[in-house]
Amino acid sequence: MNPIIIRILLVEDEAGDALLVKTALRQTQEINFEVTWVESLAIAKQILSHSHFDLVLLDLSLPDSEGLETIEIMRKLAANIPIVVLTGRCDTNFSLLALKAGATDYMVKGDFGFDGLARVIRYALLRVEMESHNKLLVAALKAAGNGIVITDKDAKILWANPAFSRLTGFELDESIGRKPNELVKSEMQNKEFYQEMWCALLEGKNWRGEIINKRKDGSLYHEELCIAPVKNTSGEITNFIGIKEDITDRKLLEEKLQLLANTDPLTGLFNRRVFLERLEQESGRILRLGGTAALLMLDLDFFKRVNDVYGHATGDEVLKEFSEIVKNHSRHIDVPARLGGEEFAILLPSTNQDDAQIVAERLRQQVSEMSIEHTKGNVHITVSIGAALLSVNNTDGEIVLNHADSALYVAKESGRNRICWFSY
Ligand SMILES: [Mg+2]
Repeated sequence: MNPIIIRILLVEDEAGDALLVKTALRQTQEINFEVTWVESLAIAKQILSHSHFDLVLLDLSLPDSEGLETIEIMRKLAANIPIVVLTGRCDTNFSLLALKAGATDYMVKGDFGFDGLARVIRYALLRVEMESHNKLLVAALKAAGNGIVITDKDAKILWANPAFSRLTGFELDESIGRKPNELVKSEMQNKEFYQEMWCALLEGKNWRGEIINKRKDGSLYHEELCIAPVKNTSGEITNFIGIKEDITDRKLLEEKLQLLANTDPLTGLFNRRVFLERLEQESGRILRLGGTAALLMLDLDFFKRVNDVYGHATGDEVLKEFSEIVKNHSRHIDVPARLGGEEFAILLPSTNQDDAQIVAERLRQQVSEMSIEHTKGNVHITVSIGAALLSVNNTDGEIVLNHADSALYVAKESGRNRICWFSY
């Protein structure tokens, strides 16, 4: 294997010191140092303009420059090249100033020891390489579309990228030192949710999940969050890295599709499929736990006449208005549905006959008071309701639906605008 070649520019006005450096570097076997020696900054400038070097070894007392200023000038001449300062004095304060002025490292002349100077050069090169690599990584993190946040082991933010600020509304300087949950917690997840998350993280596992968080302006957003614990060489967790993707649009679309799949577009009530599913669930619940549920079948009286006399647009108006009344009379556990045409049903879970009768009667009453304006005169309509009860003895939803339908037929036959119960 060919030895590695490292090109050094040695800026040193003392021939004796230059020789010392060359001798020290010659001792290293595995690296071939190619040293170009110049005696002043002016010559160094000239040679740097047309030749490439891996590193500059710099004496600070030169004929054309003195002290820290030498470093500052060289830093400008050799922008990305590591500079190792050769100093005559062993002075910590001065050395720190040298580093601040742009030196990568420093060595006391004559104090090179065996391989000392070569080692300092290798570290300086490695450090510059790592720094440029780190710069690349930071640039990538800053450019990422996902929010990225780095915390310490106590979840306090150390760094976050611009996408994190865009997502949450919190700038980096107001985020540092605070915990993400202090910034974006929405109270939409319960305590157990966070407990499970921390349980996995403290075991050293990655955690991934969907979460609703709150922006600085108070608005809520959905994010897909992945948190990875980072461990040191002893296996202790030192940091956490969180990657956040804004999935609000996807969630809204999912909700919209869900709504489209489950509801009747005209009235917004549940469709037949959902109604039958929920009916089956309720039957199962009664079978396990007992109790009753009521099923109301509703049919608008002489609805065909509305369409014929006032037109279909008015017919649709009536259906919508009626559906609003149905929705307003429903509890959140109820399942109001449009089964088709002017045929509606409401499932009232955990409800007995008396309570269902009250609901049905209020509904019937309010529908009879409904009035829709039309140039041919206001439209009025009534509803007939057939009711049946799901109980431990009648858990077959389909049969109970038929019972309610029979009761509806009786309500129609006995003059409409009334409620009839199926009698067992
Ligand atoms: Mg000198």
